[in-house]
Amino acid sequence: MKKLIIVTLLIMVASCATVKQTTVPEEGRSARTVTDHQATPAEGNYGQTVSEVKAVTAVDSCSLAARSQAVQDDEENQDHLILATLWFQKSAEMRALFYQCFRNAETALKANLEMHGRTGTAGEVILPETGAFTQPESPTIGGQAGSKSEGASAGYFSHTGPVKPAAVVIDIDETLLDNSPFQGWQVLEKKSFNNNDWFRWVELARARPLPGAVEFTRYADSLGVEVFYVSNRTVQEMGPTIENMAAWGFVNADSTHMLLKETTSSKVERRALIEKDYEILLLVGDNLADHSGIYEKRGPDHGFAAVDADRRLFGTRYIVLPNPMYGNWLSELLKKTEGLTEREKLLRVLETF
Ligand SMILES: [Mg+2]
Repeated sequence: MKKLIIVTLLIMVASCATVKQTTVPEEGRSARTVTDHQATPAEGNYGQTVSEVKAVTAVDSCSLAARSQAVQDDEENQDHLILATLWFQKSAEMRALFYQCFRNAETALKANLEMHGRTGTAGEVILPETGAFTQPESPTIGGQAGSKSEGASAGYFSHTGPVKPAAVVIDIDETLLDNSPFQGWQVLEKKSFNNNDWFRWVELARARPLPGAVEFTRYADSLGVEVFYVSNRTVQEMGPTIENMAAWGFVNADSTHMLLKETTSSKVERRALIEKDYEILLLVGDNLADHSGIYEKRGPDHGFAAVDADRRLFGTRYIVLPNPMYGNWLSELLKKTEGLTEREKLLRVLETF
């Protein structure tokens, strides 16, 4: 027992030392202005933001009680997320991928908008009830049948009446805003996700924009395309989210264009709401559920068959951004796998390869 106490104390001291290695928040970072939005995140700022998270979440990292709880409870250990978080924060490949995706998004949006104007008249497009669409003239999407789950939203120009104005639907977290400092904080503090910690991070309104994100929303706006944000941040998080996004210069950072979570995580209904008045030409997100309801639940094949069926939509109507840290892909894996800790569950998944 005595030995256990000594070991626990040693771990506590070591953990505190580790946390103290993170950089102290830079002075004056809160004095961000609207003109800052064009600047891309500077190298090394992520570490500073981790410290900010630590400060605002008001969790004393050296608190004996907090540390003792973390040490005792293996379930809290988030070490399996270290590599994914570091890749998101520190790999040039990640930055390049975001630029690549948003460039692709611009090209696709422009092409779809041109198609929207040309063919958006009554009777030119047939959209069966199933949602499979026929668009033989489209150089963008081809004639391949797409998703079936969201009816009209799965096809282009689904209207048979007057042309609706064009819209683009974009997710927020890990699509436009970078919350990886919060993820890093979880790893350092050995804390699994919980809503209270998350809300404290959101209230900070300090998440930085991801590479190319602000520019894409401005480009869409310049084309006359209405930009909507459909996110599973809750409606209670609306205020700080608007503050955060407005500070970086995202267009339409207001409650009219932000459809946040009220009761359900599914985004199907919120997209349908937009489609009452707009034609959604492009959907952008880091989780396939941002694009279609069929991806909300992955089957035994992890959703691979659905992706294969939708292959013509990726890069044309669906823009998918990389997120190795979390998402439906991971939560479904953890749900399906029995085990004591998340790490053990993931190791069991590896054994099935
Ligand atoms: Mg997201």
